Amino acid sequence: MGGEEESPRQEADDSIRVICRIRPLNKSEEAAGSKFVCSFPSSRGQEDQMVSVGGKVYLFDRVIKPNSTQEKVYDIVAKDIVKDVLNGYNGTIFAYGQTSSGKTHTMEGKLGDPTYQGIIPRIVHDIFNHIYNMEEALEFHIKVSYFEIYMDKIRDLLDVSKVNLSVHEDKNRVPSVKGATERFVSSPEEVFETIELGKSNRHVAVTNMNEHSSRSHSVFLIQVKQENIENQKKLLGKLYLVDLAGSEKVSKTGAEGAVLDEAKNINKSLSALGNVIAALADGKTHVPYRDSKLTRILQESLGGNARTTIVICASPASFNEAETRSTLDFGKRAK
Ligand code: ADP
Ligand code: MG
Repeated sequence: MGGEEESPRQEADDSIRVICRIRPLNKSEEAAGSKFVCSFPSSRGQEDQMVSVGGKVYLFDRVIKPNSTQEKVYDIVAKDIVKDVLNGYNGTIFAYGQTSSGKTHTMEGKLGDPTYQGIIPRIVHDIFNHIYNMEEALEFHIKVSYFEIYMDKIRDLLDVSKVNLSVHEDKNRVPSVKGATERFVSSPEEVFETIELGKSNRHVAVTNMNEHSSRSHSVFLIQVKQENIENQKKLLGKLYLVDLAGSEKVSKTGAEGAVLDEAKNINKSLSALGNVIAALADGKTHVPYRDSKLTRILQESLGGNARTTIVICASPASFNEAETRSTLDFGKRAK
């Protein structure tokens, strides 16, 4: 961990948590007669940790059932990481899964809706509430960045003129996206305006937003810097919130040209991520961060001192069973 700010150290174990969220069957799946193929076995000491599909049982740090509220999901997935970031740790929360498995619902949800808002708005409220209730003499500076990675190119969602940003490492080998817009924010409302701006910029550049969002990774970064006015002690915590591209396999026969290139690219970056996470989980000394832009950017916030949580999102529909199993297998590699 470089930089002028010092970070507290943490125990190495349990730095990657894998949480599985199974969404409800949706109306079109019900209408098509799709069956609910997940079950949730439990044994003593392992309540809410198992999901079974097609006779195979998967064990995760936590399994979130279809009827769980967004608030509960926040408590399980993000609450502790927010505390850590406020104590100067770095963290990353990913949503992984096939298109329409609930990644964006989990990360973002309905902005401005207290019941249906997702993890990001709840994190923002929590951070500001923490600051508003502070009793110590601390000065906070919060800034956010928002970009997407499409075909291994980084596009700034807060400045449409920046379409191909590069990853830069400082003298302490701390990576960052060079030139990415950083917006200082002083209230949750300002953060939400920034998110809305980023989303509208993202829409402008593409013809079909649903297709586009399923083929690109979106990365929202919150940096919390604090300085103790009495003793000048500084802390910096960075939190990356990543809504990954859809993990579904594109059929090799149907796809050609640009669609096939996109599919290969997504596949490559998701497997690079999987390899990094598996290497961290296995305690390997060589972690292949350099294999994709995403893992290069996240290097400082994945593994080591950082808190990492992966939310594996999956559909329970029989129609999606093969994809659901491959999603759960991805999650398993991280344990
Ligand atoms: P993804 O981002 O993975 O493509 P979305 O988050 O957009 O998928 O989810 C697809 C649809 O399913 C959306 O309409 C979303 O509101 C709904 N949905 C996803 N997860 C849930 C859930 N746990 N409960 C209720 N509706 C959900
Ligand atoms: Mg989405």
